[in-house]
Amino acid sequence: MTLKERDKKHLWHPLTQHKIHPEALPIIKAKGALLYDEDENIYIDGIASWYTAMYGHCNDYILEKVQHQMQQLDQIVFAGFTHEPAIKLSEELIKILPDNQEKIFFSDNGSTANEVGIKMALQYHFNRGEKRNTIIAFEDGFHGDTFGAMSASGLSVYNGPFEDFFINVKRIPTPNFENIDSVIKELQECIATHEVAAFIYEPLVQGANAMHMYEARYLDQILSICKDNTIITIADEVMTGFGKTGKTFASDHIETKPDIISMSKSLTAGFVPMAVTSCTQEIYDAFLDDSIGKAFFHAHTYSANPIACSVALAAIELLESEEIQNSINRITMSHKDFDTKIKNHPKIKRTRQTGVIYALDLDIEMDRYGKKRYEIFDYFMKNGVALRPLGSTVYMLPPYVITQEQLQKVYATIVELLENV
Ligand SMILES: *Cc1c(COP(=O)(O)O)cnc(C)c1O
Repeated sequence: MTLKERDKKHLWHPLTQHKIHPEALPIIKAKGALLYDEDENIYIDGIASWYTAMYGHCNDYILEKVQHQMQQLDQIVFAGFTHEPAIKLSEELIKILPDNQEKIFFSDNGSTANEVGIKMALQYHFNRGEKRNTIIAFEDGFHGDTFGAMSASGLSVYNGPFEDFFINVKRIPTPNFENIDSVIKELQECIATHEVAAFIYEPLVQGANAMHMYEARYLDQILSICKDNTIITIADEVMTGFGKTGKTFASDHIETKPDIISMSKSLTAGFVPMAVTSCTQEIYDAFLDDSIGKAFFHAHTYSANPIACSVALAAIELLESEEIQNSINRITMSHKDFDTKIKNHPKIKRTRQTGVIYALDLDIEMDRYGKKRYEIFDYFMKNGVALRPLGSTVYMLPPYVITQEQLQKVYATIVELLENV
């Protein structure tokens, strides 16, 4: 039996209607920006496997560090014990995070990082004797699939069956030049009529919302109103973190710094799952008390797994290297050139870019998970390029190590698609 056939027997894939799409493509190997399937086809990974493998798949430098760590210490309970990889990682993260961040809390994935952020914010108020019960979030934001994170997310395909069970969330539109005044008004009304504990947002780029981009200055206005009302601000940097917007964090583009930052995805470079929620000293201090009741009772078995921490340490070293910083600039400039050539194409409705993230909307109607979307996906794969359109949006978020030649191939494949849709 082929892998494809064996897969169907016992596996249930995420975001998949198995009745319509029974087949998954087995990948047997990955290196750098390339994926290999069992029939010896090669694909350029144009989205770094959901923006994780930014330093290339199976990166040799990270492999070396992980192998060493695996022989030294594999796992230890993080309640009551500690270890150097976690200590060193906390030191390195605090160096590169916005200045107001002081404490590092570990979990397993982007959803749990946000879940932790939301719980920290709720308990921050609770510990100070205030019961605030409402979270503000952007319409169409995405923060993950666990209950708190899902409640804060606004994409209806994900939420439908669960909406009755959500925590309290009020949604405001993402701001732009035209609506900023009314968004501010809505925000202020919401603050006046609800006990608002926190505001959670994806800074500058909303990944799952078809790479929707919005301006730092409008976010700044919203964040400063939150600060004035002791509303805890949670920047979901699960996608935008670690260089993708051209700065280390998207929050580095924004004057008002968040109280809490969640990160995952490229934190561990595609090797293993892990996530971090960082926060200010002020948040941390609200949990200090002579009674145990004010402590943060949240744990995951694999919190701060030493192997995952060693991966993250190696990844940060790579991110700071001249080689990767130059690549980020090179990709950013290439995208700009490509955009100049392509943006007036009659089949394109609109294009946008932040750092290495580039997106274009095709001027054709289609459902997010409709038939046409799958045809376009198949077209890319047949041409050796792994891109996953979000509805009519085609986006690129290539690994930093993608070569110029590989990048040109991705562009050329998109241009050819435009000639044929
Ligand atoms: C992917 C993502 C999440 C969820 O992370 P998981 O690791 O899939 O749970 C949350 N927020 C943003 C912005 C993401 O891109």
